[in-house]
Amino acid sequence: MRFEFTEEDRAFREEARRWLLANVPSARAPMGGPAARAFALDWVRKRHAAGWSGISWPAAYGGLGLSYERQIIWHEESVAAGAPSPLDPTFVCFNHAGPTLIACGSEAQKSFHLPKILAGEALWCQGFSEPDSGSDLASLRTSGRVEGDHLVVNGQKIWTTHADIADYQELLIRTDPGSQRHKGLSWVICDMKLPGITVRPIENMAGVTHFAQVFYDDVRIPLSNVVGALHDGWNVAMTTLGFERATAATALQVELSARIEALSAMARMRSDAVDGGLLHRIAVARAEAAALRALTYKTLFKEPATPFDGSIVRLFFAELAQRIYRIAMDLLGPQNAEASPDNEWIPAYLEAFSETIAGGTAEIQRNIIGERILGLPRGGGR
Ligand SMILES: Cc1cc2nc3c(=O)[nH]c(=O)nc-3n(C[C@H](O)[C@H](O)[C@H](O)COP(=O)(O)OP(=O)(O)OC[C@H]3O[C@@H](n4cnc5c(N)ncnc54)[C@H](O)[C@@H]3O)c2cc1C
Repeated sequence: MRFEFTEEDRAFREEARRWLLANVPSARAPMGGPAARAFALDWVRKRHAAGWSGISWPAAYGGLGLSYERQIIWHEESVAAGAPSPLDPTFVCFNHAGPTLIACGSEAQKSFHLPKILAGEALWCQGFSEPDSGSDLASLRTSGRVEGDHLVVNGQKIWTTHADIADYQELLIRTDPGSQRHKGLSWVICDMKLPGITVRPIENMAGVTHFAQVFYDDVRIPLSNVVGALHDGWNVAMTTLGFERATAATALQVELSARIEALSAMARMRSDAVDGGLLHRIAVARAEAAALRALTYKTLFKEPATPFDGSIVRLFFAELAQRIYRIAMDLLGPQNAEASPDNEWIPAYLEAFSETIAGGTAEIQRNIIGERILGLPRGGGR
């Protein structure tokens, strides 16, 4: 595969760079809650007003309808200009809810929701995991009973990132009573303001409250909110996870590459205090970041693609992120880390522990790679 940018792509890059450098917010993004929502949506609105929202989304729903190469250019220039991290509260909207609606939604669902996302009028969260159903998602029990033209939802989700500030949720529930495993599930658009929904935020070890438990008590959701066919939610969910693990990595790996460059610069400034072992780790991580970039682009443009390809990218990204933030801690030293509580490396280091859990744990990604991509036998007598 050859991946090259055209003359037109380069002109687009120049234009994007000029706009970003003049418009990227100078304030740091708040970590969670309503302030994080307001900050993230303001940034989307600013992009939307200037015609930069939804680079590769279909023009029919308010996007620019440009190639995915242009989307990549946008991510690269955003990171270079110091734009807010793509892992902000709009991450689900832009990286998997919107793309899932584009791939599987009805005309009515697309026309209503996609322009709202692009205009910064709505935030989404993802309600897949349950207290006893994380890695084994197919065992989920939150139910949706069909009653006339509504589903009546009862149960509980957990680890729902930004549930406290989201307007809509990708909700995966069991709609066929008595069904087992992957069968009988539905992927439903849930309005987070509906009566019967209770959100209880959970604080993580970085001291940030950005995920939550969500309880559903006779929540009535119109059947027209089912995405794809009723009881066929597993296929839609696999589409969502495919986006979460592959295309979503585009923006994140660009950001990670910028982090390792910043670390290299920091090491150059402290050259007298940095030993050869640390320099070696930085050099290896820099090479791995370049390899991750090549791997991400290869996966994005692979044909035919499968929903499992993203697991390789997701796993490599997650473990590399942890290595890079560990290097940052070793380079800074404990005294510098403690002395500067607003230092952005410390929260990033703490948050990176979750990279090998969120979106499917490292063990689950390895299982998928082994079983679905390499065709190895299923292990452990499952
Ligand atoms: C920061 C963060 C944000 C998240 N945001 C969301 C969100 O917005 N929406 C959402 O729905 N979920 C979210 N999650 C939840 C995430 O998807 C789950 O935590 C993840 O899928 C693991 O599930 P679990 O926590 O139930 O762990 P478990 O499934 O109980 O796993 C426990 C351990 O057992 C291992 N294990 C389990 N099964 C196997 C197996 N078959 N083979 C080998 N090892 C196995 C796991 O790898 C893990 O180490 C988030 C998680 C994190 C950390």
